[in-house]
Amino acid sequence: MGRVSGKMAFITGGAQGLGEATARMFAREGAKVTVTDVNGAGAEAVAASINEAHGAGTAFAWQHDVTDADRWQEVLKEAHDAMGGLNVLVNNAGIGSLGSVEDENYETFKHVQAVDVDSIFLGCKYAIPLMREHGLGSIINISSIAGIIASANYVSYNTAKAAVRHISKSIALHCAKSTGGQIRCNSVHPVFINTPILDRTKEMFGEEEALAKLGRQIPLGKVGEPDDIAYAVLYLASDESKLVTGIELKVDGGISA
Ligand code: NAD
Repeated sequence: MGRVSGKMAFITGGAQGLGEATARMFAREGAKVTVTDVNGAGAEAVAASINEAHGAGTAFAWQHDVTDADRWQEVLKEAHDAMGGLNVLVNNAGIGSLGSVEDENYETFKHVQAVDVDSIFLGCKYAIPLMREHGLGSIINISSIAGIIASANYVSYNTAKAAVRHISKSIALHCAKSTGGQIRCNSVHPVFINTPILDRTKEMFGEEEALAKLGRQIPLGKVGEPDDIAYAVLYLASDESKLVTGIELKVDGGISA
């Protein structure tokens, strides 16, 4: 028995990075997974490789831009029907932007909120009714340590990821009451993790120096790997965490201690 055997999970931004690592770990631990991404070909490649490893019908993929509000309900229903249900939603898709309040362009600010925050409102709004059919359910929203610790040059990202932290608590309280304690909602707050999101920093400093520079800011002394986050998401998706809702799980090497 895997730790999420019988679960049916929907993961956004699953074509690479943390979403891909989570989808692969869920499949190894017995779940069916749907991977969506604005990069549809990338999502399909991840699903195909999971099916090769774990058998046809383990993974499904759809192209979906999480800012496309009209498509959310449809894609969730398609995934629900393909997997035979839905009981885990991982709102992972997210983007960052570098800029202070004076430098940042207003359109960029709004776009970061749309990808990182509005997507969570929409995903939860339409997933919860489908999840109610299947007993215990879990929503995991990927925030960031930047949702807890602010910096001058991340005004859009700081704002968005702090909102992810709080919308998760509101949804947790709503679900606790309205689903008779069946559906939970939590946020996860990674520190720097070695995924393509760090590509720009690697271009600026070279890969080795970029990772060392970021690692020096973390008390545990190193940048994380995608599975460090996938393990946290796995715990929150599994029934091992059935009494856990409304928390902010920091996977941050001690940076916020
Ligand atoms: P990544 O850039 O490697 O992957 C993000 C994925 O999301 C990509 O496949 C991309 O195509 C997809 N995506 C982007 N915009 C989308 C949209 N509008 N609709 C659908 N898909 C979209 O990033 P990652 O490091 O895997 O990050 C995943 C999540 O973790 C993000 O929410 C990010 O903010 C958060 N996070 C990452 C780190 C880190 O250091 N890697 C740290 C803290 C938080």
